[in-house]
Amino acid sequence: MNAISVSDLTKTYGNGVEALRGVSFEVAQGEIFGLLGPNGAGKSTTVRILATLTQPGGGAAIVGGHNVIDDPAGVRRSIGYVAQASGVDRWGTGRENLVLQAQILRVPSGQIGQRVDELLAWVGLTDAADKLVNTYSGGMKRRIDIAMGIIHEPAILFLDEPTTGLDPETRAALWTDLDGLRRDRNLTVLLTTHYLEEADRLCDRLAIVDQGQVVVEGTPNDLKAAIRGDTVTLEVGESTAAARETLRGLDDVYEVIPDGGSVIANVARGAAAIPQLVTALERASIDVQEVTLSRPSLDDVYLQYTGHRFVPGEATGTGEEPRR
Ligand code: ADP
Repeated sequence: MNAISVSDLTKTYGNGVEALRGVSFEVAQGEIFGLLGPNGAGKSTTVRILATLTQPGGGAAIVGGHNVIDDPAGVRRSIGYVAQASGVDRWGTGRENLVLQAQILRVPSGQIGQRVDELLAWVGLTDAADKLVNTYSGGMKRRIDIAMGIIHEPAILFLDEPTTGLDPETRAALWTDLDGLRRDRNLTVLLTTHYLEEADRLCDRLAIVDQGQVVVEGTPNDLKAAIRGDTVTLEVGESTAAARETLRGLDDVYEVIPDGGSVIANVARGAAAIPQLVTALERASIDVQEVTLSRPSLDDVYLQYTGHRFVPGEATGTGEEPRR
């Protein structure tokens, strides 16, 4: 049985924003599954529905064997949920926060002390356990947040943008922690992220979400491998439309996508293709200012399936306002 099964979820908010337009995916037990997309794509809405914090407009979702509509209490017993905004009390110590959370989530009182000690050790905060959270760094606060999310030993953990706002070094350290979490506890993790690198590094499988829909789903490697050949980006200023037409007809050019002042050509063999591409553009009197060659990345996967580049934090047409 899958840990999470989502089929055709829809959601329109009271203000008329169609946040989800039929989202479907499955997450196997013990898997780290990512929802990757820019702000406004519908990731948080999906997770909030799965965590029973908001109701879907239509579709179905089963979480830990419980239906989110018919059995929200059953879902809540199976899950931990770590929201984007920290739920930590800054004026309590790390230990106090964990004990309080354990009490709220009805962990048997005889087990609380040991479980809190174990979790503090796991998140590397044993020494700081009795200091006020107010004195913690962003990464330490985030680790307490995550520890609070699993204090009741849920089977499934939802992490909504777990590393947003953290510096790259802290982010990388947290990735290692999350790997360990899955390995040691066989947790199923559903995380949302707008970092391509995070999805690539952490997720066993991921779904790219754009404008309220899953546009493609797979392992990071399979998604990248499905992009044939190499990617050549040619900066051509105002001439993207003409450049696209010129390049499209060439042998070994699979696809050409305009992107701002550049065109991105997906070609069989990048190094061999570059002279041919540049010569064709020069013959068409199109000035090439810069050429870069890259192996396919998740960014290219994203571009292929959505037709636009991945710009973290930028909405893609659902009337998104700046992040709350
Ligand atoms: P993401 O997590 O991918 O950034 P969200 O699920 O937060 O996306 O948002 C999807 C869309 O729904 C956005 O256009 C956002 O503005 C809108 N939205 C989210 N929450 C609410 C809400 N409580 N009321 C109205 N609109 C909302």
